[in-house]
Amino acid sequence: MKLQEKYQELRKKHAALLATNFYNFETLRGILQSASLNKNPVILQLTESSIDYMGLPVAVNMAKSAIQHYGVEAWLHLDHAGSYELVEKCLDAGFDSVMIDASERPLKDNIALTKKVVKLAGRYGVCVEAELGYIAKLDQSTDYTGFTEPEDAKSFVEETGVDALAIAIGTAHGFYKKKPELDIERLSRIHAVTNAALVLHGGSGVPHSTLTEAIRRGICKINIATEIKNIFMQTLRNRLMHESEIDLRKLFPFAIQAVTNLVSEKLKIINS
Ligand SMILES: [Zn+2]
Repeated sequence: MKLQEKYQELRKKHAALLATNFYNFETLRGILQSASLNKNPVILQLTESSIDYMGLPVAVNMAKSAIQHYGVEAWLHLDHAGSYELVEKCLDAGFDSVMIDASERPLKDNIALTKKVVKLAGRYGVCVEAELGYIAKLDQSTDYTGFTEPEDAKSFVEETGVDALAIAIGTAHGFYKKKPELDIERLSRIHAVTNAALVLHGGSGVPHSTLTEAIRRGICKINIATEIKNIFMQTLRNRLMHESEIDLRKLFPFAIQAVTNLVSEKLKIINS
């Protein structure tokens, strides 16, 4: 099933998909093991830096053959593309879904670029996500808030024709210094006036009850990245402190298992 069709199904059911970033073979395996174990579909995400790290064809082929190997329903998604050129390369490489993030540009530029990407992706039959509002990136301040206005979301979706929209309702990328307070009423208002699948970025560290409530009110995709990186590296660091083993095939499985456990926990919340 195409992701855009899946989103429409999720919208009707008030359900959501987990979208997790992967960074190498080990994190990819950890995620897919969990999806397979729980029999849940999942979105696999790559950012530009992960693509640069692995190489585009390597990352895509590895993801696609791993999806097949684990027998999981999964889609490959480009996370936070900053340019039309990167989107085009990823479409040619076989992505199922792309995100164009022009949220930091003036609204009319965001609309224009998103529209252009929707037109291009349409030729590939690929799903498009865009972002509206300010969701702090890893290096950005969380003091400033620029929540998505429902009226802006309505016209943005209508003008661009995006399938999915990342909205700013109080989340931020990375770990939270204090418990995030989500503007859940705003989410309901956005949901009421748009027909796009609404996306929650910065899902790492959002309390489980808040995630459930967000899904109930119309979030169809929840992004988790920071927690994956964190659990993988923390697990590895702990093992390395106490062991002199140099066979990476004996140590990595502990970190892979930790990713599997984390993803299983998230899948259980999201699919409950
Ligand atoms: Zn994000």
